Amino acid sequence: MRKYVIIGVPGSGKSTQAGWLARDLDLVHISVGDIFRWNVQHHTKMGALVRRIMAAGELVGDDLAEAVTAQRLADHDWNYGFIVDGFPRNARQAEFFLESYDIDAVIHLHMPDAEVRKRVLARRLCSGCGLDYNLIQGRPQEEGKCDVCGGTLVTREDDTPEALAVRLHDYHDKTDPVLAIFARKEYVLTIDATQDRAGVQQGIRDALGLPAASPEENSSGSPAAAAQP
Ligand code: AMP
Repeated sequence: MRKYVIIGVPGSGKSTQAGWLARDLDLVHISVGDIFRWNVQHHTKMGALVRRIMAAGELVGDDLAEAVTAQRLADHDWNYGFIVDGFPRNARQAEFFLESYDIDAVIHLHMPDAEVRKRVLARRLCSGCGLDYNLIQGRPQEEGKCDVCGGTLVTREDDTPEALAVRLHDYHDKTDPVLAIFARKEYVLTIDATQDRAGVQQGIRDALGLPAASPEENSSGSPAAAAQP
């Protein structure tokens, strides 16, 4: 059983890296941001509550973020473990998490803000299957179309310069302290996220003492995020 948390600035590749690990190790990948985005796309009551907050790049309230994470962890049958992506985002959420779950490692993807800005503003998402593209690295074969499902590529509502500034500010203000809380338990692994995707994955695996990724995982781009989280 493996229990991991992955933390990193917006655009550092958390979801891609977590997806690869989850697929290979049979872990349940819980992306709190994907859950919220799914609710926005499907016009649920929760979606209506969080849509504007997310579009502005702000954090959703702790009560809701905690409830969603706890519910998702309770729903899944995670016999082989889980990887939580996007939670905890502040000290309160970290305390909540640590009260309920033991973690084997926190994977911290480190990327300087200037690089984040470049990457996030070039990011596109498939509106059909959720696959992540980057117009600098990993462009689609046909412009504006998903290579896997043919869906239209869109810009995330919170991938604007204004929302990104809020997200980066919040990250340094609120999420950096989470790393300090976890670091007291000495299981934070910091990985240089400016490398290419395969290099980051290898760095994570080396740090966790896991076998290398299979070649097809490295060559196939990012795994499709499930449209329904
Ligand atoms: P992400 O995909 O992780 O960048 O998350 C997208 C957005 O979802 C964030 O900007 C927040 O608005 C919201 N969100 C995701 N995770 C959390 C969390 N743990 N606490 C509060 N808001 C969150």
